[in-house]
Amino acid sequence: MMNQPVMSEQQKIAVVTGASRGIGAAIATQLRQQGYFVLGTATTATGADAISTRLGLQGRGSVLALGQPDMNLTIKQWVKQVESEFGPIRVLVNNAGMTHDQLLIKMQPEDIQNVLNVNLMAAMQLCQQVLPGMSKVRFGRIINISSVVARMGNAGQTSYAASKAALEGFSRSLAQEMGRRQITVNCVAPGFIATDMTQTLASEQQAALLAKIPLARLGHPEDVAAAVGFLASEAAGYITGMVLPVNGGLYLD
Ligand code: NAP
Repeated sequence: MMNQPVMSEQQKIAVVTGASRGIGAAIATQLRQQGYFVLGTATTATGADAISTRLGLQGRGSVLALGQPDMNLTIKQWVKQVESEFGPIRVLVNNAGMTHDQLLIKMQPEDIQNVLNVNLMAAMQLCQQVLPGMSKVRFGRIINISSVVARMGNAGQTSYAASKAALEGFSRSLAQEMGRRQITVNCVAPGFIATDMTQTLASEQQAALLAKIPLARLGHPEDVAAAVGFLASEAAGYITGMVLPVNGGLYLD
């Protein structure tokens, strides 16, 4: 018989979207190591099952596909269900993201909208739904995963860069709205991290990129997870509205 996840009374809930692979999987593992009961999301039941297996007794995978027209209702119902089963969400990591790399001149409006919906609107709507629970317990850590391209820009990634730059502006504003409730809102902005998302880069592109990174390697998902773990910790309680770059020195500002 498979062991069911068990949550002790003192355990606190962390949600990580897009936890099936890449950076999100590493963040889920990091937060589990910090004692959180982690709910990690994936777009499919197979992905959710794999998360449950990976997290063992300290978490669970759950299906949450973002970006569809009725997303607001889906998110509302999903958060309600999670909180009725586990209690208020203390940590929310908006990590799920996608790219649609193409020159703007060739992009269809629906492709642009889709990137904005998944990377920006979903994060904003998830924040809206977890804020009442965080406000009640006077504790919250919201960490939004941005990207180095929010500030650096990147040809072929106009919609992606726009979504991430907007996510940073959103986070700074929400930090100002929610500080009095001891809810912090920060971003982590990875550079180029070795995941499925960057695997599609041609080897010449990878070599050109490496030449620009002072630390001379692509990042590991764990490099990003460590930064998220810090911002989620009690120790980071006086840091809000910030963007923490994890980019090997690729872009310094
Ligand atoms: P990844 O390997 O492509 O994984 C993406 C994750 O997001 C998966 O768990 C995926 O779920 C989920 N996801 C994708 N579309 C979704 C949707 N419509 N609804 C719900 N979930 C969805 O990406 P990654 O490289 O780990 O990137 C994670 C985050 O870091 C993203 O926000 C990305 O923009 C950001 N980032 C990455 C890099 C990099 O170099 N890799 C750099 C800067 C920023 P499924 O497995 O179910 O598809």
